[in-house]
Amino acid sequence: MHGRIFRSGYTTSLLPMVRESIISDGDNLQQDAPEGSASQFSADDAQFDEELRPQLLADVVGQHKVVERLQIMLDATRKRSEPLGHLLLDGPPGLGKTTFATVLPRELGVECQITSGPVLKAPKDLLPYLTNAGFGSVLFIDEIHRMPPAVEEFIYPAMEDFRVDITLGEGLNARTINMALQPFTVIGATTRSGMLTAPLRDRFVNRLHLDFYDASELTQIVARNARKLRATINDDAAHEIAKRSRGTPRKANNFLRWTRDYATARKEGHIDSAVVQQAFQMLDVDGIGLEAQDRRYLQALVQIFTGGPAGIQAISHSLDIPPDTLEDEIEPFLLKCGFIQRTPRGRMVTAKALDHLQMAVPTKENQQPRLF
Ligand code: ADP
Repeated sequence: MHGRIFRSGYTTSLLPMVRESIISDGDNLQQDAPEGSASQFSADDAQFDEELRPQLLADVVGQHKVVERLQIMLDATRKRSEPLGHLLLDGPPGLGKTTFATVLPRELGVECQITSGPVLKAPKDLLPYLTNAGFGSVLFIDEIHRMPPAVEEFIYPAMEDFRVDITLGEGLNARTINMALQPFTVIGATTRSGMLTAPLRDRFVNRLHLDFYDASELTQIVARNARKLRATINDDAAHEIAKRSRGTPRKANNFLRWTRDYATARKEGHIDSAVVQQAFQMLDVDGIGLEAQDRRYLQALVQIFTGGPAGIQAISHSLDIPPDTLEDEIEPFLLKCGFIQRTPRGRMVTAKALDHLQMAVPTKENQQPRLF
């Protein structure tokens, strides 16, 4: 038996093109990314995500430790016939937080409601989800770090004692009534576990961190999804796409879609290494997956801030990219590659990055005024 998934609570202003779909961090990127960046494929990325999303734990590739822990949690939950303990998933965008959050209720055969932190502006926005939550069902809150403090406080008793405290009236006439809820599970997803308040973090009994995937796992995802999309691809080509996907399945899926389009439009339809090379050249993505905006970031750090240290706000102003996007979308991969360092005084470029970009930090004598 598979649980039903209710996707709701997204305002049309947040995601105009797909009213009833999951908004993910990758979608935010599309709003923030500068025009022409490789991250901007087309408006139906969210729908594409849905088509390729693994449905059961057995379909999930990689993240072995996370899968093993989830399997144990699922087995224990089934044996005890109790709701799953509240679960927090954290990690950069596109690594599978929504995937795991929707796979679990399906595995347990329970219902799942989906909402996100920014949509829950006041306790009244959260209340319907809590009262609708059936025994053992899952409430998935994406971007949970963006929930306002009033909503956060409202959710504490719901998570801890399965009750809500509702205040009726104002001033002297105000009174609080307690309402009992069905025991249920909150699954929270965040790209910034550090921004979660300690009380909220402590209410999650289980916390799992998702890490970047390695090239062989991404190759497997590309090959499998190519079959789902009825595209023909050879092993080398799948590996070439995987290598440029920044350890991120969502990127791998998007790149697969682009190479498939390229192969259909310009070639005979079959995706081989040569097609991948040409398709990526058009996207301005290099051999290890650095995109135009990564290079702009590194170039700014080198040429404007003479290699750093530079504060995130200053970099954000120079590039005209919001600090959140830099921290969520660009920096995790650059850190993983060892291209930047985050020091208490700010971001610094590393020798490895200079080597990759074939650049040198300008000295006082040859410092250029501004690049952009
Ligand atoms: P997040 O919520 O962390 O931003 P998603 O769960 O939406 O990421 O993942 C984006 C897409 O990447 C999914 O639609 C799915 O197709 C693919 N994906 C993510 N994790 C995996 C995985 N472990 N195995 C296979 N595909 C995955």
